[in-house]
Amino acid sequence: MIVGGGTAGWMTAASLAHRLNRLDTRITLVESSAVGTIGVGEATVPAIRRYFQSLGLNAFEVMKATNGTVKLAIEFDGWRREGHSFMHPFGRYGLEAGPVAFHHLWNRLRRAGDPGELDEYSIGAQLARAGRVLLPPDDPRVDFEHFDWAVHFDASRFATFLRSFAEARGVRRIDARVADVSTEGESIRGVRLDSGETLQGELYIDCSGFHRLLIEKALHSGFVDWRHWLLCDRAVALPCTAASPEDIAPYTRSRALDAGWTWRIPLQNRVGNGYVYSSDHLTDEQAVATLRAQLEGQALADPNFVRFRAGHVRRFWIGNCVSIGLASGFLEPLESTSISLIQMGIDKLLHLWPEETPSPALVDEYNRLSIAEYERIRDFLILHYSANGRDGDFWRYCREMPLPDTLGRKIALYRARGVIQQLASESFFAPSWLCMYGNFGIDAGSWDPLTNLVPLAELDEVTRRVRADISRNALAATPHRRFLDIAGALATP
Ligand SMILES: Cc1cc2nc3c(=O)[nH]c(=O)nc-3n(C[C@H](O)[C@H](O)[C@H](O)COP(=O)(O)OP(=O)(O)OC[C@H]3O[C@@H](n4cnc5c(N)ncnc54)[C@H](O)[C@@H]3O)c2cc1C
Repeated sequence: MIVGGGTAGWMTAASLAHRLNRLDTRITLVESSAVGTIGVGEATVPAIRRYFQSLGLNAFEVMKATNGTVKLAIEFDGWRREGHSFMHPFGRYGLEAGPVAFHHLWNRLRRAGDPGELDEYSIGAQLARAGRVLLPPDDPRVDFEHFDWAVHFDASRFATFLRSFAEARGVRRIDARVADVSTEGESIRGVRLDSGETLQGELYIDCSGFHRLLIEKALHSGFVDWRHWLLCDRAVALPCTAASPEDIAPYTRSRALDAGWTWRIPLQNRVGNGYVYSSDHLTDEQAVATLRAQLEGQALADPNFVRFRAGHVRRFWIGNCVSIGLASGFLEPLESTSISLIQMGIDKLLHLWPEETPSPALVDEYNRLSIAEYERIRDFLILHYSANGRDGDFWRYCREMPLPDTLGRKIALYRARGVIQQLASESFFAPSWLCMYGNFGIDAGSWDPLTNLVPLAELDEVTRRVRADISRNALAATPHRRFLDIAGALATP
């Protein structure tokens, strides 16, 4: 039984219905239209396309149903300092010289002179800046052709789409409020609805969002609070019309402001905007006034305020209850990771799917992996804050705060010799870490000595050629809206 019908509930229901349909598993989902969903969560990472595939869906068909657009990168505007901007693309940079990773070549060139910006070495970043789209080739011939893409979509349309998918595969939906949850030891016995009906199941999946009805309210999982590292605890969202509807930017924009940052997520029919901020540094009134002043078009709704705490439940799975989505924790949407965490939750659950009473070994493994996944993303997000070069109390705190040991070690290794350390359960790989180190001005003290075998003049010439090739390819690609049209991804008006 699934409690909650937001993105997490319906993604879980769709996956379980699709994957377990030959096992005679009956799935019930309870959601309350009176309570509603969080109503945000519209930018993803490339893993989302694997999710579509796992359901036998084509990305363009989902985009058509959800006013979806292509996302090639996130622009970080003003994070290093006011007026500075860089892209975090999905994919490799530049070129590799045999066994030597690109960043060693780049670091050596940097020391010698002007290697250009990292953005110039990424086709995803250049396409994003040009407002054009190209799909990665099936058989890349050169390094920069290894890139990837994600999507932006309308969150409520996505949930509706998945609901139809899941109901068509036998998921039973009940629209009612859960009034009470009964427990026995560390297990759920049943949920009582406000209709008076009591529901019982073998496995309960808590997708009740920040309400955390089962995992926290009923089973008292406890919470690991990371507010001292990730200060933002509020957001306000406000969609608007697009200033130039024909030019859809194929990227998310994150702009640093005095007490946090704003997002801009372009959809086919509107633009999603929001301000993520720290309530110790900004009032709700100031936040919404700042956001309104930045809107490029007409507001399309009332401001939607959300409160949150960075961190995760101490135990994601307890007895016969697994939490997925916001019910299990939250990391601010700086790198659009919440929906991918939902996917990871579903994948682990399917991998460890219990028969009747879950064995402690399965539960422990689920919890161990979930904690690692959260911690790895946490470190990546903290790096954005700790490396900032902005003025003001909020940013100064972020620059000076003690870092998690794991992150401190990573930065030290990079500074020492350009080593990009990858731990288990990482969501972000070497190019993403390089993107942050390089664009925030964290310098590597030295590089792989094999790099010195390439004469500098040759390195300079080759990298110039690669940058020119990337730029030429990006400028020859198809404008975003035209691309969506050709792909059959434009929603019918
Ligand atoms: C400001 C902000 C921006 C975000 N941006 C992104 C982003 O760009 N990318 C990304 O990947 N993620 C983002 N996220 C996270 C993303 O929104 C969530 O991961 C996603 O929407 C899943 O939410 P959910 O389904 O867990 O919770 P919800 O959408 O809150 O759903 C909870 C469900 O539980 C039900 N429920 C609650 N109480 C009861 C009850 N008593 N009885 C019955 N049903 C009940 C509700 O009706 C609802 O159906 C963002 C989050 C926030 C806060």
